[in-house]
Amino acid sequence: MLLGKRRGNHLEVLFATEPMITDRRRPFFFEREVNGHATAAMEAWATSGGTVDYLGEWHTHPQRVPVPSSFDRTEWRKLLSGRAKHSPLVALIVGTTCLHVELLCEEAQIDLKPVGRD
Ligand SMILES: [Zn+2]
Repeated sequence: MLLGKRRGNHLEVLFATEPMITDRRRPFFFEREVNGHATAAMEAWATSGGTVDYLGEWHTHPQRVPVPSSFDRTEWRKLLSGRAKHSPLVALIVGTTCLHVELLCEEAQIDLKPVGRD
């Protein structure tokens, strides 16, 4: 998961939890087990005095230019359900040469400019 600060319209990603032994990982599939990551998020929240919040999710794809799968999009839509309005999230996929980044909000999933060597 991605943790960081919300500054007005800006999301500042400060930390990313690493995959844990309880997560399920395949070349085109990743399912994060909630417990260890939730503990990391709560610790970051507590040690930051409540300024570091959950900002979204990241995972890797074995692709030069990562393309979100239909599973990714389904999971990202689930992330938004039940969240407070105007509380966007970041979805990040790390490919082998660049990143795919989207801003997830109630109205749309917005592709941000790819970052990388391509
Ligand atoms: Zn994916």
